[in-house]
Amino acid sequence: MKKISIIIPIYNEEESIPYLKNRIINTINKINKYEFNIVLVNDGSSDNSIAEIKNCRKVDKRFEYIALSRNYGKEIALIAGLDYCKESDAVILMDADLQDPPELIEKMITEWQKGYDDVYARRTSREGETWLKKATSKAYYYVLSKMTKVPIQKDTGDFRLLDKRCVQAICYMRENNRCSKSLFSWIGFNKKEILFEREKRIAGNTKWNYFNLIKLAVDGITSLSTSPLKWMIYISSLFILILVLYGAVIGCFAIGGNNISDISIIIFIILLLSTIQMSFISIVGIYLSRMFVETKNRPLYLLDEINGKKEKNQFGEKNEKQKSNNMDFNYNHYFTN
Ligand code: UDP
Ligand code: MG
Repeated sequence: MKKISIIIPIYNEEESIPYLKNRIINTINKINKYEFNIVLVNDGSSDNSIAEIKNCRKVDKRFEYIALSRNYGKEIALIAGLDYCKESDAVILMDADLQDPPELIEKMITEWQKGYDDVYARRTSREGETWLKKATSKAYYYVLSKMTKVPIQKDTGDFRLLDKRCVQAICYMRENNRCSKSLFSWIGFNKKEILFEREKRIAGNTKWNYFNLIKLAVDGITSLSTSPLKWMIYISSLFILILVLYGAVIGCFAIGGNNISDISIIIFIILLLSTIQMSFISIVGIYLSRMFVETKNRPLYLLDEINGKKEKNQFGEKNEKQKSNNMDFNYNHYFTN
């Protein structure tokens, strides 16, 4: 029987967990073709969440939990859960506050059975969110899609089903500043969208504030694109153009026998110096962006099919060496950080 893991990051959700438990049990009891486990990742909650989590396990042994040593944030809680479930045939990621309705799980599994690797839930409405949050989110998706060649899934969070090979690809990427949404887009594979209405949180309060959202937006952009570093090239090109035009104008004046004022000369010198500075900064930017891409140590590509057969070794042979390097690195990573 194939195994599906449901991963739920938890940070101070003592009020939501009892509702969550019931809804999940009801949902998975209806699906008997698969073996389920529900992995609750306690992300250093400071309330009574851990007691509630243990209670879930007491009621139903399909609930498992891992507890992180402190609060690391949702992104890290997710990768901890994925690492734990690497051998499951599929995983489902969802929030603890029931904003992601568990009833959708059945639909996701149906699509997965059809051969899709990443079945993601797209919000059609955002109950209980301010217009500002909606507007900033829309602007963000627009900017992001302009900055990268990677196809971006709009209005999509982490609520999704991932096939094993997607999970292994995500686990392979060990970058510290994680933005799961970007990683889900980056890995590609056969994606399928299903629509849902995002409900209000069942209990407790959101952990997000605008400060977090800005951080998430910056992480999203910088994890998919180095184009902000390249903007300096365009700006310095503009400055070079202005410098040449300005130099030509005062040069013509001087050749024509006119007196050039001191201020014009000072402006020219300032323009010249800032152009030189900017050009050098943009050169540094180019090298920095290359280094940034290299240090992430992502696989060069992921394989989908070979001769019509779905590829299980999605990293490809050429990536194998890199993979083993990566694994060694990961192992050490726990001790050095
Ligand atoms: N979460 C977490 N660590 C954190 C913050 C949040 O594991 O530091 C979990 C939280 O318990 C919930 C999910 O991430 O299951 C989404 O959080 P939240 O509902 O606060 O975010 P929103 O839905 O408002 O974006
Ligand atoms: Mg929420």
